[in-house]
Amino acid sequence: MKRFLKTSLVLTLLVVCRNTHAFPTVKVDTLIDFNASDSLALKKELELMDVLLSNPKFWLQIKKAHFFCSAQRTYHSKRKRHSIYPKLKKDKHSYTSQEIHDLLWFGQDEIGSPNDQVINLKLRAKDYPKNKNGSQTHGSTNSGTLIISSDRKTRIHSKIKGKYAAHLLHEYMHVLGFKHKSNSPSINKKKCGGIDVPLRIQKIAEEIFKHM
Ligand SMILES: [Zn+2]
Repeated sequence: MKRFLKTSLVLTLLVVCRNTHAFPTVKVDTLIDFNASDSLALKKELELMDVLLSNPKFWLQIKKAHFFCSAQRTYHSKRKRHSIYPKLKKDKHSYTSQEIHDLLWFGQDEIGSPNDQVINLKLRAKDYPKNKNGSQTHGSTNSGTLIISSDRKTRIHSKIKGKYAAHLLHEYMHVLGFKHKSNSPSINKKKCGGIDVPLRIQKIAEEIFKHM
């Protein structure tokens, strides 16, 4: 009996320890227009993202970062009435870096189960034509369907290791509701006074990928 108690105590402790160290994981829920070579590129980038998500440095840097325009969790208020996800009120709360960290850490998207510590992704591969002003769109997130579209050439098949994974984390911050003040990065930065939530998360990820 004593030995049984001892064994179950050790097992309980092991479970507790594992849970405190469990890092979030990433799961692809939907894939649209991915050909074989797109899927291969995605697989490699998701492996990198898994390594990033289990790196304590990534999480610490988010907690220490300064986010501009953090009172911009308003993306879901753009939704049409018939959208598959409910239209939400504009959330003008100023999110602290700890709160932003927690949204990402707990995978608080509306896909899958809530608070599941899973970063659920719905992905589309796309070939964006050049914009009229000569600029290139790299990706976007649909607020109604939460599908992330990414450009094949500049993101999915980028030669820079982790570029697509960092971009997916940027778009995931839109899935969580954070919206840019402007789609032009320079105007956005000016209006916010600094780097906003999706861009800061992307930059933190890119910096860590550089040293991997
Ligand atoms: Zn964005």
